Amino acid sequence: MSDRRVAVVVEDDEDIRGLLEVVLLQSGFNVHSTDSGVKGVELVESHRPDLVTLDLGLPDIDGFETARRIRTISDAHIVMLTARSDEIDTILGLEAGADEYVTKPFKPRELRARVDAIMRRRSSHALAKNDTTAVLAEPQSATQLDRAEDEFVRSLNGLVLNPSTYTVEVDGEAKNITPTEFTLLDVLLGSKGRIRTKTELVRRLRDEDSDSGTYVSSADERSVEVHLGNLRRKLGDSTQEPRWIETVRGVGYRSAAKR
Ligand code: CA
Repeated sequence: MSDRRVAVVVEDDEDIRGLLEVVLLQSGFNVHSTDSGVKGVELVESHRPDLVTLDLGLPDIDGFETARRIRTISDAHIVMLTARSDEIDTILGLEAGADEYVTKPFKPRELRARVDAIMRRRSSHALAKNDTTAVLAEPQSATQLDRAEDEFVRSLNGLVLNPSTYTVEVDGEAKNITPTEFTLLDVLLGSKGRIRTKTELVRRLRDEDSDSGTYVSSADERSVEVHLGNLRRKLGDSTQEPRWIETVRGVGYRSAAKR
């Protein structure tokens, strides 16, 4: 059993691809890379990665289509690489199933910090699933304590979220949601009706405490909106008459009232 995690890099720019490979190798990944979307999907199928980095502009199918195809076969964490100005692209990418985006050009150290945070979050999910291939998360005093208190099955209006099996069921039917969506749902249900701002949710996705004070951009907040939109669609929730997730206009979100 290899203790290295697996990443797939889909990027047609040779220099950027090389840079991504170096960063991921340093973060402890076995890296498989390609310059094509179709080959990227094949690599995901054969290597079952934990993480995928995905360029938008590819020579065959674009990054959106690649993300969609990957999402049907894998729950790998998909990081999309976008140009700084393309907020629309970012939103479309998240809607296609990507978990987050990194804007180009990026600093290798920043990317590495992002990747490490992603993997800490996924490790805690994998441990919850009792996955023996999981890499142990490094001790994270405050956050880890938060989580220890939080390891409870949550139920609300016919939905059951179980962190120890990492499953979500609605009226007894299993729902297939991404780790990012799972985290958001877990935080909202765990907050028991207390409002969570988008800023707080962004930080929780980075595996930080809600009040860590780190910078959160409007694009980061927008990505939380998109993830919650995707989550609502998968659960079959309504924004008008929310059963689980309620939008508090101009402020954030909270779990809906018990019915
Ligand atoms: Ca490209």
